[in-house]
Amino acid sequence: MAKTEVVEEEGWACELAGFREHRCYGPLHRHHVVNKSKLRGCPKCLRYVEANGHLFMAWVCEGGNVGREADSREAQAFFWRNRIAQWGEEYCSEMLEGLRKLFKVPPADLRLEALLEGLPT
Ligand SMILES: [Zn+2]
Repeated sequence: MAKTEVVEEEGWACELAGFREHRCYGPLHRHHVVNKSKLRGCPKCLRYVEANGHLFMAWVCEGGNVGREADSREAQAFFWRNRIAQWGEEYCSEMLEGLRKLFKVPPADLRLEALLEGLPT
């Protein structure tokens, strides 16, 4: 049996499948694509990402979530590249701007271009 077998639950698969040497294991977890620690102190931001879960939440297996692999800069870029493929760059960028505006000081690293800089080469 292939070790890279994708865990499936209710029709969802781990969104880190195909990322570097990622090996899936365990059940799927709902993962905050923008690290929750960044949203701390901004309840409006947390509500916004959870209300727009199609972009800001990902299904990630226990292996990727607990191991913090899903929080890496490279994984963030990987998630956004896939979101662009599905929803389009303009839309993703607008939605991120919507989130940035909710912060007192809009974080520069939440611009789409900045997030994509982490893509593995
Ligand atoms: Zn996985």
